[in-house]
Amino acid sequence: MQQTNVKPIDCLHFIDGKFVPSFDGKTFDNINPATEEKLGTVAEGGAAEIDLAVQAAKRALNGPWKKMSANERIAVLRKVGDLILARKDELAALESLDTGKPIWLSGSIDIPRSAYNFHFFSDYIRTITNEATQMDDVALNYAIRRPVGVIGLINPWNLPLLLLTWKLAPALAAGNTVVMKPAELTPMTATALAEICRDAGMPDGVVNLVHGFGPNSAGAALTEHPDVNAISFTGETTTGKIIMTTAAKTLKRLSYELGGKNPNIIFADSNLDEVIETTMKSSFINQGEVCLCGSRIYVERSAYEAFLEKFVAKTKELVVGDPFEPKTKVGALISDEHYERVTGYIKLAIEEGGTILHGGKRPEGLDKGYYLEPTIITGLDRNCRVVQEEIFGPVVTVIPFDTEEDVLDQVNDTHYGLSASVWTNDLRRAHRVAGQIEAGIVWVNTWFLRDLRTPFGGMKQSGIGREGGMHSFEFYSELTNICIKL
Ligand code: NAD
Repeated sequence: MQQTNVKPIDCLHFIDGKFVPSFDGKTFDNINPATEEKLGTVAEGGAAEIDLAVQAAKRALNGPWKKMSANERIAVLRKVGDLILARKDELAALESLDTGKPIWLSGSIDIPRSAYNFHFFSDYIRTITNEATQMDDVALNYAIRRPVGVIGLINPWNLPLLLLTWKLAPALAAGNTVVMKPAELTPMTATALAEICRDAGMPDGVVNLVHGFGPNSAGAALTEHPDVNAISFTGETTTGKIIMTTAAKTLKRLSYELGGKNPNIIFADSNLDEVIETTMKSSFINQGEVCLCGSRIYVERSAYEAFLEKFVAKTKELVVGDPFEPKTKVGALISDEHYERVTGYIKLAIEEGGTILHGGKRPEGLDKGYYLEPTIITGLDRNCRVVQEEIFGPVVTVIPFDTEEDVLDQVNDTHYGLSASVWTNDLRRAHRVAGQIEAGIVWVNTWFLRDLRTPFGGMKQSGIGREGGMHSFEFYSELTNICIKL
């Protein structure tokens, strides 16, 4: 098991350009989800470390970062992207050790996309111009952009470096300084990223990193701090509600990317082979631990049996196991606690009257590690908790439908509204259905195809605001309108 020469790292905070332990020396263990063994230790920060980091970020905001020209800042950001690519194999191994995801996945998506986030946003910032509005011959208005200030970035464990860089790159490109609080379960690539920022020539204090937990720990301290101007948060909807309450006391600007319970809608006229190929990914990639995964699959009744037959057959072929084995398609779930949560939903599915068509248990021969067979459930109706609540694991429900109205009614009957995919070869229906789904992102005949200029985010309880292209810069910058009487 675990064929990698890359050594796990002990994770310290990175504050004002230096790696430092916690003031009281407190640490917690970092566990490898694929082996249940200790990878190393992580410094456990709290209010004191957050305060030090915020003060450093505040000094850097109006100090060295502001004094650099736009071209100089862009050069540093591009260098961060270059250095991520230069350390790609090492970062991919660290990501797979931390998360349990297959190494081919971290090597082909997580790490290259993290580099691209820096290259993309450092290019994009050059295209932004100021808006000007003339009022007849009375006045001329123009709006200038400035940074929001010190931004707190709070991230989840499922795509650790990819999602952190998705926030960090535009925040820095817009001239802000940051304090990052990565997920406690996946601290290693964030620590490596701090080192990369330093090596790329980022001035001290521009990027700070404090490890720790959420409640009564570094996460809560960051959202409470009066000198933090905005919080960009990706994580669970329930956590988002707590952060909103805390952040209200200092009226922080908030950007939220939250949970989802995303539908795949498959019409009988779609190409079944294409559907199956993509549905395998949208269901089980990254162990189903992607916010965009399609966990509710609706199939038009005339295609239902044929879909299930092929889907189950293909799912049986998926190899579950060691993330460092090239043939592995599904790795380990993130933690003991999450494993209990996901398997709890499988038990609940049976109580709610569902049938487990495939999976539902630990694969044979894998006694250690949080491994679970990809699981397909049928026979549940729209009101079941398993159909309504986010499971965030390799578990999908499949439900037949009869009409467009019927499926739209079921699809929109949820508090979530992150993404959806629609499968049909009928052009008019594709547009008609896509436009009626209450979700921030709808794919037609594809899934997870991303152009970083497009708006990304959720509606209802899946998020507030959008990221991507100009949308990211809207969040990470303040506007001042200057009106000049002519
Ligand atoms: P989580 O909400 O448990 O934790 C996310 C982060 O918030 C962690 O860093 C955690 O330490 C911190 N945190 C927890 N409580 C806090 C508090 N009270 N104050 C401040 N910080 C706190 O989420 P998770 O389990 O790490 O991630 C999985 C969730 O993230 C799923 O719901 C998934 O759908 C969602 N997600 C959404 C997107 C998206 O783009 N919409 C992307 C990825 C993941």
